Amino acid sequence: MARTRTPARGTGSLPLEEVLESKELKAMHGFDVHTLDDMLRFAPRRYTVPAALRSIHEVAEGEEMAAVVTVTGVTARGMRNRRGTLLIVDVTDGDSALELVFFLAKDHQVAWHRSHLRVGERYTVYGIAGRDSRTGTPQLTHPRYEEYEDTPEGRARAERPLPVYPLKKNVAQKTMRDATERGLEFADGLQRILPDAVLRRRALLPLADAARSLHRPLTFEDTLAGRAHLVFEEAFVLQAIFAQRRAQDERTPAPALRGDEPLRPALDARLPFTLTDGQLEVGAALEERLAREHPTSVLLQGDVGSGKTVIALRAMLRAVDSGHQAALLAPTEVLAEQHHRTITGLLGDLAAAGRLDGHADATSVRLLTGSQRTAERRRTLLDVTSGEAGIVIGTHALLTESVEFASLGLVVIDEQHRFGVDHRRRLRSKGPGGMSPHVVVMTATPIPRTAALAVVGDLDVLTLRESPGRRAGVTSFVVHESLPRWEQRMWARAGEEVAAGRQVFVVCPRIDEDDAAPPDPEGSEPLPPPRGVTETSARLASRPELAGARVGVLHGRLATEEKQQVMEDVVAGRIDVLVATTVIEVGVDVPNASTMIVLDAERFGVSQLHQLRGRVGRGEAPGIAFLDTRVEQGSVSSQHLQAVAEATDGFALAELDLHRRGAGDLVGELQSGLGRTLKHLDVIRDGDVIARAREDAFPLVAADPDLTDHPVLAAAIETRLADADVERS
Ligand code: ADP
Ligand code: MG
Repeated sequence: MARTRTPARGTGSLPLEEVLESKELKAMHGFDVHTLDDMLRFAPRRYTVPAALRSIHEVAEGEEMAAVVTVTGVTARGMRNRRGTLLIVDVTDGDSALELVFFLAKDHQVAWHRSHLRVGERYTVYGIAGRDSRTGTPQLTHPRYEEYEDTPEGRARAERPLPVYPLKKNVAQKTMRDATERGLEFADGLQRILPDAVLRRRALLPLADAARSLHRPLTFEDTLAGRAHLVFEEAFVLQAIFAQRRAQDERTPAPALRGDEPLRPALDARLPFTLTDGQLEVGAALEERLAREHPTSVLLQGDVGSGKTVIALRAMLRAVDSGHQAALLAPTEVLAEQHHRTITGLLGDLAAAGRLDGHADATSVRLLTGSQRTAERRRTLLDVTSGEAGIVIGTHALLTESVEFASLGLVVIDEQHRFGVDHRRRLRSKGPGGMSPHVVVMTATPIPRTAALAVVGDLDVLTLRESPGRRAGVTSFVVHESLPRWEQRMWARAGEEVAAGRQVFVVCPRIDEDDAAPPDPEGSEPLPPPRGVTETSARLASRPELAGARVGVLHGRLATEEKQQVMEDVVAGRIDVLVATTVIEVGVDVPNASTMIVLDAERFGVSQLHQLRGRVGRGEAPGIAFLDTRVEQGSVSSQHLQAVAEATDGFALAELDLHRRGAGDLVGELQSGLGRTLKHLDVIRDGDVIARAREDAFPLVAADPDLTDHPVLAAAIETRLADADVERS
């Protein structure tokens, strides 16, 4: 789908129509580049080094060469076997002769070269050295050339790095270069986003100089200095957006959640475990924020199984204890239902308001999903609106629908990477009496600090570092199917676990093997076609190791009720072996599951594998994870699996994953709504820049929240947000 883009109207940026010829204009439009500012911020993908200037006789055939020459003669003649003109330009470097050879189809091309290669003038010529097959004279075919100016700058220009732009169909590199060259004439009219004070403090080139350095550098250092401006600028705009959001929060009222009884202490008293120091610490930090009179936005990150749910529950009870409601959003119905089960389980009679068996102080916990029957939904909605329901659990449908809360004080969003962070904005209006609820986002995909600042820079990050000790933990092994004994041992182990009354998950990359195979991950060797859930469950039926085991399947193509039934059967122990797609990746909590077998494991990302194995070993029995693969031992994919098997720290793995895949995916997963459109900034490489840009942007916005004195920055923010909205839709 074509992106429609808000033109930078009113910002004073020069439309390219006023700068370029139609061919160049078309080339730039192909990249959605419409203004001078867009174009000069459109960075070359790389640069080529021209060969050092040399004399012609030093150059061997086939070598890349550059030389300063004088034109001695020009001849044009028709070609023997085809239409067009053969143009031969004789040149010399004062010592040896060289022929520049052009095969030209059109007369105007001949005229163009004739007018640009004049006898007696000096030029720098670049190309691959060849030789006339008859005469042996050195030749360059279709060389690049430019006028040579015999000054130190002229000489430096002859050796300058040449920008190489990304290309689209039918657009020549030269067109792109000509377009930016032309644009550089107007560089002083660029919209300067960064204030001068910031340029000075960060030792950055002024914008026009930065543009010239980027597109017409004399040295490689120039290209870096040019890019540095754009990187900082992009980071600065992002941080200014975050700063504005924070400032906006500071002006928005929120219910101060300060009630500290009766429910929260009652829950603490009945928890079947002792909270870890980390949980208490993070819980206290969270409560301190919830007590404020302005909406807080917190990112609660902690590895799989680190016990985030109970922290969220305690926070939600604080909302209820303060006379408000709390909502918990999960990415799928399966997870919403699981949260409902877990939370009602932990609360017991504290969640049974209005029932005979209810506790005197009890509240009511409600589940709201799309697949509920209308009557049931209507009843729940009524309780949400009346305030009867203290805690409401659902999917993100809770946000999109016109669900009316009596007094929503807190929203917890589980597994953020499946949501747009900007969903939070939709919640703004859902609080009581024009107030905004507080928001806590939970994620098990931890991100390095600077990356967090770049993509979710308007959230406070709270991190759970340890996991509760009672968990038995998971040991992981890589199983190469090329060694049949290992594979047999794996299934035998699965059988032993089933015999001991425990459960096994088997995860496959796709549902059916005749579905189109997903593409191999980028950079991997060719992989065997991935296995499907359907076929695998059939194959398991005939494995002697699993004789008598009850096998179930779970994947996204089942009807909602079927999925529910399967999960219920798994939780109740009526299924021994569950063959599934990654639907079980996120958050599924079955304490009795001990074994995870991932088939074709090389097809899964590092974090995904870590999430998957986190599904087992959650109860008393130690977990075991088999990363089964048909790739060769010692191959890159196999080494990567080995690294996952050996690492146990989710944070270390997340960082490894980030470096392996680059930031693009991470940013995509977080869907910050801003990050996807990053052009120059690399959230890993540019960590320092991000931190510095934040230091500069926050005070600026604090002093001038509406950016009245910074109209160009304000316009850049608008464009960025508009782009992000287009990306999202
Ligand atoms: P996650 O952070 O992945 O959402 P959960 O909140 O689901 O983790 O917790 C994982 C398991 O650990 C749950 O079964 C939970 O009841 C249990 N748990 C949480 N906190 C503790 C604790 N302090 N001690 C022992 N078990 C705990
Ligand atoms: Mg969880």
